[in-house]
Amino acid sequence: MTDHDVAALLGAEGPFAREVPGFAPREAQQRMAAIVAEAIEERDALIAEAGTGTGKTFAYLVPALMSGRKVVVSTGTKALQDQLFFRDLPRVHSVLGSRVKSSLLKGRANYLCLYRLDQSVREGHHDRVLASQLATIRAWSARTRRGDRMELADIPEDSPVWPRVTSTPENCLGTECAFFDDCHVVKARREAMEADIVVVNHHLLMADLALKQEGFGEILPHADAFILDEAHQIPELAGQFFSQSVSARQITDLASDALAECQGVTGAMGLLLEPVEAVQAIVKRVRLAMDVLPAKGAFGELERNDAVHDGLTELRDVLAALSDLLGAQAERSRGLASAFERAQMLSLRLDRIVEEHSDADVRWYETWPRGFALHATPLDLASPLRAMRMSTDAAWIHTSATLSIAGDFQHFARQLGLEDPRTLSLESPFDYARQALAYLPQGLPDPAARDYTDQVVDALLPVLEASNGRAFLLFTSHRALRRAAELLEGRVPWPLFVQGSAPRHRLLEEFRASGHGVLLGAASFWEGVDVAGEALSVVVIDKLPFATPDDPVLQARLEALEYAGINPFMGWQVPTAVIALKQGAGRLIRDVHDRGVLVLCDPRLTTKGYGKLFLASVPPMPRTRSLDDVKAFFTAVDTATP
Ligand code: SF4
Repeated sequence: MTDHDVAALLGAEGPFAREVPGFAPREAQQRMAAIVAEAIEERDALIAEAGTGTGKTFAYLVPALMSGRKVVVSTGTKALQDQLFFRDLPRVHSVLGSRVKSSLLKGRANYLCLYRLDQSVREGHHDRVLASQLATIRAWSARTRRGDRMELADIPEDSPVWPRVTSTPENCLGTECAFFDDCHVVKARREAMEADIVVVNHHLLMADLALKQEGFGEILPHADAFILDEAHQIPELAGQFFSQSVSARQITDLASDALAECQGVTGAMGLLLEPVEAVQAIVKRVRLAMDVLPAKGAFGELERNDAVHDGLTELRDVLAALSDLLGAQAERSRGLASAFERAQMLSLRLDRIVEEHSDADVRWYETWPRGFALHATPLDLASPLRAMRMSTDAAWIHTSATLSIAGDFQHFARQLGLEDPRTLSLESPFDYARQALAYLPQGLPDPAARDYTDQVVDALLPVLEASNGRAFLLFTSHRALRRAAELLEGRVPWPLFVQGSAPRHRLLEEFRASGHGVLLGAASFWEGVDVAGEALSVVVIDKLPFATPDDPVLQARLEALEYAGINPFMGWQVPTAVIALKQGAGRLIRDVHDRGVLVLCDPRLTTKGYGKLFLASVPPMPRTRSLDDVKAFFTAVDTATP
């Protein structure tokens, strides 16, 4: 089948137009399908930016299914992975009458581990909630085919029961496990081995390619193509996965698992109890000593604090001692041998981060209310990413609605180490000139001003009046979000939905249902939120989303760029913020019938030279500085609505 034939499948005379209700043939979608087909065939690297509404999912699934090759499709989140596998893929399969085998594969933490479930049931639990959740999981384990914890929506994702009944690469017993033949992880991997299309998520893909940790390494070398959707997330994720990290949680989990493995091994408990308790106590002490430090910072901060520094030295010693003792017991059971391997690995990593680090890494820490993690992140991610691709001899197709800076892909390509890649830019089919308006309020102060958020809220109120609510207010900081919520509370007639007051999915559901709500969100609401229709008619961006300069990795990266002769502001901070702004702005128009106003509050858009880059990167809509135009826009919408 030629590339032209693949494109024709999505054309006006093709099966999708005939069989999918409401399917609109789009030239951009057909073009992308043809180029993806070519890239798969030639094992090429491709960067394809597809504006909202292009239909990029079908544009890569159709050529993937028609290629007869083994294709790994990777999505940004597990929810998108499920959507692709359970909704989009079956639709494309059925329209094409394809017999291609496909499979869904997630990281092992998503699958029930029969061995650990059995262990947990034997141990028993005094905590009532935990015991009841365990009983639910046990009942489900008898009927589930996949063992995917997504099936048990009743048990919260962050319930402490999950780590007890799922495995990690370190505590999995592998072929020596008594449950191996029925193991859900093993079954999912076997299916992926046999499938032509494997749907994964970026976390799993990166974890495996970067660390060989997730162990589906046997599948990847056979893939002919990798299609990465939401590819703008890759650089950030690569930082996480190419890092060396140790968390308090990993260490305390190891300690409690080591004790659990002593059951039934005569004398083991007597030997291990004391060092295990010592490890647990020191982890707590280190965390407590970190209380005086900022939540996240450069490793130097830890080294300058005597209590933390001494605590870490002691932790290295007791962990090494525990590892030695486990080593002496390793032959007595498979479980103890696995605990020994974990202890060795954690001890080695801790030593590397604390002492034997490389200058090519930036070392940093982060803390949570009851935990901490230490990291060494490589500054140069392009080289390991390039090496990762080279090891596969496959096509690498990167797609997203937000990859370019005003049509230029250089920033993205450089981050990924892609030299001279093929690029494709597909405009959204939406008529932004008619459907949308960008409003840049006048008279707002510098974003660093103390009362900036207060003034933003004042500038917004008349817009919200004109739209009758129906707005997303996107903030670059939680502090600004809280302040805006305070200012709006009790002052506006529309229901307010404030991030943090309920789980994200519930806020979104209630916002959609309310019809004229105002949602205030930061970080996670800038991406992946889809509210088509009138419930969302205004998107407000409070400030240009520059990453916080106090992030130690960012700081080190900026210094490295400067050292390499690249202006860090224009070479990194601006492009990264442009991509984030495009994501936020992309929430507004999700459908050919949507109409709405994008409010860009940050005055730097017009007062600074780089403002032009941001404005040139948002969808091409008319711009105004006049509130009257906004009012006229909504009056026209109301008149046009039957
Ligand atoms: S093989 Fe590993 S993941 Fe599977 S049941 Fe056994 S311990 Fe759990």
